[in-house]
Amino acid sequence: MGYQKPKGTLDILPSESGVWLYVEDTIRRQAELAGFKLIRFPTFEATELFNRGVGGTTDIVQKEMYTFIDKDGSSLTLRPEGTACVARSVLENGLYAGAMPLKLYYLSNFFRRERPQAGRSREFWQFGVELFGSAGAEADASVILLANNVFRAFGLQNIKLKINSIGCPNCRPAYREALKKHFERNQDELCQTCKDRLDTNPLRILDCKSPVCKNIAKGAPRTIDFLCDDCKAHFDKLKTLLDDCGVSYEIDTNIVRGLDYYTKTVFEFINESIGAQSTVCGGGRYDGLIEELGGQPLPGVGFGMGITRLIQSLKDENLVPEIDSSATVYIAPLGEAAARKAFVLAENLREKGVAAETDLCARSLKAQMKYADKTGAKFVLVLGDNEINEGKAVLQNMRTGEKIQIDLSLERIMNTVCL
Ligand code: ATP
Ligand code: MG
Repeated sequence: MGYQKPKGTLDILPSESGVWLYVEDTIRRQAELAGFKLIRFPTFEATELFNRGVGGTTDIVQKEMYTFIDKDGSSLTLRPEGTACVARSVLENGLYAGAMPLKLYYLSNFFRRERPQAGRSREFWQFGVELFGSAGAEADASVILLANNVFRAFGLQNIKLKINSIGCPNCRPAYREALKKHFERNQDELCQTCKDRLDTNPLRILDCKSPVCKNIAKGAPRTIDFLCDDCKAHFDKLKTLLDDCGVSYEIDTNIVRGLDYYTKTVFEFINESIGAQSTVCGGGRYDGLIEELGGQPLPGVGFGMGITRLIQSLKDENLVPEIDSSATVYIAPLGEAAARKAFVLAENLREKGVAAETDLCARSLKAQMKYADKTGAKFVLVLGDNEINEGKAVLQNMRTGEKIQIDLSLERIMNTVCL
């Protein structure tokens, strides 16, 4: 019957949207505490931006993009991630000429044509941050701390931080060769995508989701054994800063992240208890990206945090608060004259900042009480002709059942319901 939402998309219904608002508000507060400013960018961009900025050997570009040809023949793609979009905007708008480092955050939806499952959808939401203009490990530490503070603000306990360093253009070639040799020994067993990647980007094989490739990757050489002095010092400094702030972490040499532009630090926040899709947040440093997109070299570091996996984590640890967005007062009029009064009174209350509703369907008192009850109104004010003539009415506290008679003045109602 009727229409259904496209596969892999979500309806966020009123029963759920209060949690989303709570989550988004908490995130915004933490981002702003750390000096990050909100950025919004288009839902679609030139396909070429992602080919370059995400990388032609990644799963995103090879398999997951929603790409279409516009009527003028140009190729556009629904944004599959935010970093390339933000980098494009920084370059296009010359933001690098302002205060540095530049600290930006976003709360946006993204699109990837993946196999839908728990924790993985085709449209999903991310809290992302990007910090440009600092090559120091302080920058890496500060974005990791921001993600950590978000989890702490919610009271989450089960999320573990894993970090790694994947080196830079100086030390990666040697690592790449060692890795290539390792995979060449098991070449025949690799999935087709990874076979193709062996020459173009063997690092991506470490990131493949296929169980066979994962298994072969287990015995692979580790990036941290190949780091140059600069990368090693950077990684050591990051660890020191995290230690100084009392943040615990594990070094996981298998983390490479799925994107081509990462250098040095990569990290993930993992919650094993929410199922197979356990990475709640992933990020790292991308010192090569801005140059790749045609700008002057500008270092950057950032992360993306999946909102549905975050909310799942909150539910898992019973950390979703009672969220009450119901009306403070429901005014239940009896008859047409009272209904006109009620309509204006509700509006006057709203003007004063009191959440107020009244009847919109000329219903009986019984039907109205049912509605007030269902929607969770805190007070009901019953308004008939008598009440209007006498200037007094009964206000019922729906939580306690208590009924009190009050004068029908805006002040009196407000004083009683806003205690
Ligand atoms: P994964 O390993 O889950 O495929 P990824 O490496 O593709 O993640 P990123 O591109 O770094 O992930 O995105 C950062 C975060 O965004 C992920 O850790 C996850 O929480 C969330 N995320 C990514 N893809 C999806 C999706 N399809 N559905 C829901 N959340 C997602
Ligand atoms: Mg993915």
